Amino acid sequence: MPVLFVSHGSPMHALDAGAVSAAWKGVAARLPRPKAILMASAHWEASVPMFTGAAKPETIHEFYGFPQPLYRVQYPAPGDPALAQRARQLLKEAGVAAGIDGARGLDHGAWSPLLHMYPDADIPVVQVSIQTSCGPRHHLELGRALAPLADEGVLLFGSGHMTHNLRDRRDAPPADYVLAFQEWVDARIRSGAVDELADYRAAAPGAVRAHPTDEHFLPLFFSLGAAKPGSRPDRFYSAVETSALAMDAYLFS
Ligand code: ZN
Repeated sequence: MPVLFVSHGSPMHALDAGAVSAAWKGVAARLPRPKAILMASAHWEASVPMFTGAAKPETIHEFYGFPQPLYRVQYPAPGDPALAQRARQLLKEAGVAAGIDGARGLDHGAWSPLLHMYPDADIPVVQVSIQTSCGPRHHLELGRALAPLADEGVLLFGSGHMTHNLRDRRDAPPADYVLAFQEWVDARIRSGAVDELADYRAAAPGAVRAHPTDEHFLPLFFSLGAAKPGSRPDRFYSAVETSALAMDAYLFS
């Protein structure tokens, strides 16, 4: 099973994703049908990796001030408690303490792209939390430890953003620093320069402006870690919304 990273966009993408919808649907059509999906979303932060353990995870609407119809969106995919246990065991074997949260549901970082990719919500979904204070290398480790699941038909899926500065959003062409950051990252993904990527905050042009905080970038490292060494990255979508939000998506196969 290939490994996926997407920039999930505003929660409104669940209702109307515009151009990226076709890209999300298209990549789902190219993939073998996953047995289950294990997602690292920027919208679940915890001090240690936690896995959703509910058999029927709720749809969480963890955002404020959006139109009412968005709060009625449901993504009733089943959970997969056995997968959550197996994933926790893999982390334990890698020396990473992790837990299971039986109450946590799915956040929009998960359900917004999944609504477009798998609208029937019939593939089990488990989420894993990110640890923002632990930085990129920790998330590479998480991805590497969970990579064996891809051989078992599980789609390992990071959901974050290529750039994510909400204060810089405006009705204008892409900001120069966004384009520079996007291209710096893409060149290093293509050449497999994972160590340079992990140092992105010091090394990449415009990094701190592109990610004032790095929780939306860390899911990329989960995907990079999960991707098999030597796998081919395919940037199957690249666009910038509202001047500041780069929407790049990659499939590693
Ligand atoms: Zn987000």
